[in-house]
This record gives sequence, C-alpha cells and structure tokens, in this order.
Amino acid sequence: MTAKVDLTGQRFGRWTVLEEDGRDERGRALWLCRCDCGTERAVKGWRLREGTNRSCGCLRREKNAARGRKMATHGMSQTRIYNIWKGMLQRTTDPKSASYQHYGGRGIKVCERWQNLDGFLADMGPTYADNLTIERIDVDGDYAPGNCRWATVAEQARNKRNTRLFEFRGQSLVIADWAKVLNMNAKTLTSRIYLYGWSVERALTEGVAPERLADL
Ligand SMILES: [Zn+2]
Repeated sequence: MTAKVDLTGQRFGRWTVLEEDGRDERGRALWLCRCDCGTERAVKGWRLREGTNRSCGCLRREKNAARGRKMATHGMSQTRIYNIWKGMLQRTTDPKSASYQHYGGRGIKVCERWQNLDGFLADMGPTYADNLTIERIDVDGDYAPGNCRWATVAEQARNKRNTRLFEFRGQSLVIADWAKVLNMNAKTLTSRIYLYGWSVERALTEGVAPERLADL
C-alpha cells in the first residue's frame, strides 16, 4: 500500500477530486472526481498524479472534433494530405513543376472529381495516414478513384518494380510475366536486374533453355 495523500479539492486537468472512493484491485487509492463537463467517476490516484488521466474522455473527444473541423475547412492547407493533393495537381498541370515531364508531360491527369479538394478527401481521406504516400496502381493511368491507393514508401518502390515493363525482342512484359514465359524464377530475374545490374538481354537469356528463347 502506498502512503496516503489527500487529494480532495485538487484539480488534475479537468478533474476536481471530490472524495476518496476506496481502493483498486492492487490496493491503491481511488478518488471520486467530477469532470468539468459534469461527469463523475472514480479515478486511480496515481493516474491523476502522473497526468495520464485528465478528463472523462471529453477532452479527447473535443480535440478530435476540432481536428475534424480543421480538415474540413481552410485549416486544411496546413496539413500533409492537402500538400499531397496540391502536389498531384502541380505535377499534372504545371510545366514548371520539376516532375511535370513524368506526369502531365506524359498525359497523366487528375480526374474531374479530385480537382476539388472535397472530392479527393471524400474518396482518399478515410484511408489516409501520415506515413503513407499516394500511389497510382496503373502507372500510366490517371489520379482517380480506383487507380489510387495509399502506400508506404517501401511498398511504392516494390510496386514500381512489379509494374515496370521490360522490352525484349519486341515484347514488353513485367518481370513476373517474363519469368513465366522463360520458365525462370521471378526472384532470380529481379535480382539479376536490380541487384546485379545485368542488362535486360543478359538477365532474360543467361541459363534459359534455348527452345524457350526460340519461341519469342
Ligand atoms: Zn468530461
């Protein structure tokens, strides 16, 4: 048992301590408290003193509501998702943008609905997290619902490999399809190209059965 400290009348965050209210399962003091919003509840004394219990939950609810309002209005301009949306528009429309040549310059557009921030937020907001970046599933496709998802930087790098086409003898295929055609292990092929830096021709032919290559 811990030494008894009278907390009656003290304030901790939004709690005001009313009176002692027994002990918890480990023998530590509980205190009946009243939150500024009127809720009364027994709270562990050590949590009050540590500052880890500061309200009945109304404080967090208010913060979340405030964040929700911020997302919905001009405060949005401060947030990361807004910058992602703006960057997407710039890459696809502004020839002065450093990466325009890879986006707008290749005919990639932002769909009508996402020209408006609200449309973008409605579709992509619910699955957004601060560690994610926007990725197009078909790299030649537009920024539009159905062709975009949130991915970590590592996932993006991996997916780019999975969708990159390699041309050989007039055919353009992704690594997985080349592996099937040539009866090779896709991992071997990936290593040859990305890890060892082999030319596409060498990666696709070395050790491959001649009859497979003859069919190409
Ligand atoms: Zn409260």
